[in-house]
Amino acid sequence: MLIDGESLEDQYLLQGDVTVVGAGPAGIVVALELAKAGYEVILVESGGLQFSERAQNLGETPYFDQRVHAAMSQCTRRQIGGASRILGGRDVPYDPLSFAARSYISDSTWPVSYEEIAKYFQRACDKFFCGDAEFDIRNIPEAKQKSIVPGLPAGEVLTSSLERWSLPTNFGREYFRVLNSCSGIKLVHSLTCTEIECNDSGRHVTGILAKTLGRKSVRLRSQAYVLACGGLETTRLLMVSDRKHSGGIGNHSGRLGRFYMGHISGRIAKVHFTTPPKRTIYGFDRDSKGIYVRRRFSFARNLHHERQLPNIVGWLANPDIYDPTHGSGVLSFAYLMLTSPVVGKYLASEAIRMAARGGLSRRIVLPHIMNMLRDIPRTLFFISNFGYRRFVSRRKIPGFFVYSKSNVYPLHYHGEQTPNWDSRVSLAEDRDVLGLRKLKIDLRYTARDIDGVIRAHQYWDEYLRKHGCGYLKYIATDLHASVWDQAADGFHQIGTTRMSDYPDSGVVGKHCNVHGFDDLFIASSSVFVTSGQANSTFTIVAFALRLADHLRSVVLRNLPQRTNARSV
Ligand SMILES: Cc1cc2nc3c(=O)[nH]c(=O)nc-3n(C[C@H](O)[C@H](O)[C@H](O)COP(=O)(O)OP(=O)(O)OC[C@H]3O[C@@H](n4cnc5c(N)ncnc54)[C@H](O)[C@@H]3O)c2cc1C
Repeated sequence: MLIDGESLEDQYLLQGDVTVVGAGPAGIVVALELAKAGYEVILVESGGLQFSERAQNLGETPYFDQRVHAAMSQCTRRQIGGASRILGGRDVPYDPLSFAARSYISDSTWPVSYEEIAKYFQRACDKFFCGDAEFDIRNIPEAKQKSIVPGLPAGEVLTSSLERWSLPTNFGREYFRVLNSCSGIKLVHSLTCTEIECNDSGRHVTGILAKTLGRKSVRLRSQAYVLACGGLETTRLLMVSDRKHSGGIGNHSGRLGRFYMGHISGRIAKVHFTTPPKRTIYGFDRDSKGIYVRRRFSFARNLHHERQLPNIVGWLANPDIYDPTHGSGVLSFAYLMLTSPVVGKYLASEAIRMAARGGLSRRIVLPHIMNMLRDIPRTLFFISNFGYRRFVSRRKIPGFFVYSKSNVYPLHYHGEQTPNWDSRVSLAEDRDVLGLRKLKIDLRYTARDIDGVIRAHQYWDEYLRKHGCGYLKYIATDLHASVWDQAADGFHQIGTTRMSDYPDSGVVGKHCNVHGFDDLFIASSSVFVTSGQANSTFTIVAFALRLADHLRSVVLRNLPQRTNARSV
């Protein structure tokens, strides 16, 4: 059932079995699973059915370094569905290395194992509509060539690990009907949670205070509370709830807001393959269910341990589309469309459009038009073929790749940002229109992160040469400077409410309960201890499913289940 927060009376009390704050992928999954099990869920969402600048501004902050972090308006979305409304759709689970105890990376110990989370991968795939939980091309029989190029064996370097792609799955749209029709869920939108209230001992939640932009106050009360506001907003809500806890709820060990991580990504090299060009698998495969999958360069786990290398992968990319010297009509067409002030915003998120501009202030037009004119047949074929598959099909092709006759492809790396105490978010003095203090964001990369990227390229290069399949050629002259320059994130918000076995080393316990509380839980990548090489959302959903199971089987087990189970 859908409720507009503004339609409630001032001082209204909303009650249910569980309150879930935030209707992004994490919150929607927890709410659906609990409603399916027969519980009454209040799902509170700050945004509305449509995008609203006023709601979006509630998360905005001027306190961040633009060279290192995206603006919150680019990397979050205050609307039902959260940032899944604008995400790319790349689904990659955290791998065993992400959870492994690594003495060479400090503060990397998880209280849960890979195997424990991997149990949820198939259910997560089902939520994303991305097929089977198989992430290795060697186990997909219909893929004839298992490596990216022929003759490159699987050894210290692998080219068989896969990313899967969802529809891309906009949770706000895909699950809207069921959220709206399910009697067990009250989805209250346009209502922003502003404070978690505790009892005198500060160990139980007595309610959550929420406000509308129209200045109404609403109180939410239930047996258990799940914060699923996204990595940074979840942390902010805990921090502003500081009446009984210095520095906010969950700050008992001083770690709330610390260890903020994203990923390190960019390009410093091109791969020059010396194998037959036509046999390079540079784009997407499709599995037997038609799901788009893509191969990545990675390393065997023992190599990471032996060489103390952070977790990192790479994939073959297109040349920079803004640079017309690529000579491709297809890339030039894509550039002109994405950077168009008229149609660009209908085609891709602001983040993707900014990347397409390549940081140039002036839009290059004529050389790109010349490329298209020189390449008319291919460009026209691309417009009709890609246009259909991207904008008409329900399962959208995630992107496009252009074949390189010379068998040379830029290599895009995506690696973990290692845990760092000094990388953090904290509260500023000034407030948003509802009175919540704004966030100060200080995302910091370290020399170890930079060094990891450079060494990974060295090992990839050595391996290609050793097997006579090619080599890397650097495009940057000063590698360190180039990796530092490109190090930036904000799209994956990890680590600021980290998990730990014991309260003195983290914010939440292994069931994602805030340490010291048995009724307050977090469903977000903010609980992750390391950032891994994978984009976060798939693992967020796996953790959300696990949390829902825990709430059902342990926390709520004595509550009577209601009859709404059938309606989900
Ligand atoms: C442009 C872009 C591309 C991306 N591409 C990918 C990708 O390809 N693959 C991938 O894995 N990830 C990707 N991501 C990241 C992905 O979108 C996030 O990991 C994911 O959306 C996080 O889900 P969530 O439910 O934890 O949080 P969110 O999606 O952020 O949802 C949180 C919800 O909580 C609401 N909220 C916040 N504060 C409050 C409050 N105080 N009270 C009530 N409600 C509140 C918000 O309005 C929002 O709806 C991308 C992100 C962006 C921005």
